[in-house]
Amino acid sequence: MLATGNKMRSMYESMLEELMKGDVSSLAEVHAISSGLKSTCTTMAATNMEDCRKLMGGHGYSYFSGISHLWASYVPSNTYEGDNFLLTQQSARYLLKQIKDATTEPEKPEMQLAAFEHRAGRLVADLAATAMQDGVVWSDLNLECWRLNHAHSQYVLARSAVEGVAQAKAQGRSAETIAVLKRLSDLFALHSIQASLGDYLEDYFISPRQCQLLRQQIKDLQAALADDVVGLVDAFDFPDHYVNSALGSADGNVYQRLWDAAQREEINHRPPLFG
Ligand SMILES: Cc1cc2nc3c(=O)[nH]c(=O)nc-3n(C[C@H](O)[C@H](O)[C@H](O)COP(=O)(O)OP(=O)(O)OC[C@H]3O[C@@H](n4cnc5c(N)ncnc54)[C@H](O)[C@@H]3O)c2cc1C
Repeated sequence: MLATGNKMRSMYESMLEELMKGDVSSLAEVHAISSGLKSTCTTMAATNMEDCRKLMGGHGYSYFSGISHLWASYVPSNTYEGDNFLLTQQSARYLLKQIKDATTEPEKPEMQLAAFEHRAGRLVADLAATAMQDGVVWSDLNLECWRLNHAHSQYVLARSAVEGVAQAKAQGRSAETIAVLKRLSDLFALHSIQASLGDYLEDYFISPRQCQLLRQQIKDLQAALADDVVGLVDAFDFPDHYVNSALGSADGNVYQRLWDAAQREEINHRPPLFG
């Protein structure tokens, strides 16, 4: 997401420069890709926050974990600044216009990206076939737009991650850093494919045997990345007051912080209620 955000910003900045010269040629693409990514990324973030809560069991549900207020303030982003369903209709319209290019573009060498491209290409062709039928109302195709948009946005995210690794190499980052970023990029791609296996199995793009291999690769990547997870999160350098969590803090002194937070809570200074 970070790599995609950087790319989106540079797309936006070069579009602004073009607009100043009266050139509007990139406006439709920037609008469609940013609409699609807004829907996909905010959906992923809200869902994954809830996954983080579950990973911490009952502690995750506690107010002191910081997750509950983070989630409560984040989840409306699925509605504001463009409802996530409506935005997918806009990106799907753009993709429908691109359908000719999408179906004639040669396959990329990278297997992961080829899988994402294939899925998005098939879904846009399916949507075009359905939308062209007599009497079809565009807003009734909301679910098809949603499915297509997320397939396309996942492709954009996976491609940005692959490009991000190549950029880190070009910048001369250490071999260890490149190896970790490559694992992260692979895990994102393979996990995203696994989460939508139905789309890939529907037209036999992936075989049942490949599904098993995919699951094994994901497990291997998770094991290889386990020791780097804390470092990767720390790399964002979020300050403690921003995270506002007794469980996630720089010093890792979880139990003392939980105890102190419980002591500060006003309700713990009152006697328990009867009944
Ligand atoms: C916390 C929060 C802060 C906000 N802040 C601001 C703000 O600062 N300024 C501001 O102007 N607004 C703000 N909003 C409003 C926000 O932009 C709207 O809530 C949002 O655009 C959705 O519009 P709506 O509420 O009318 O829902 P609706 O458009 O009525 O949507 C309701 C449901 O119907 C579906 N739906 C609607 N139309 C279609 C269609 N054509 N086809 C298929 N499905 C459809 C939607 O997907 C959704 O599931 C805020 C909202 C929230 C929750």
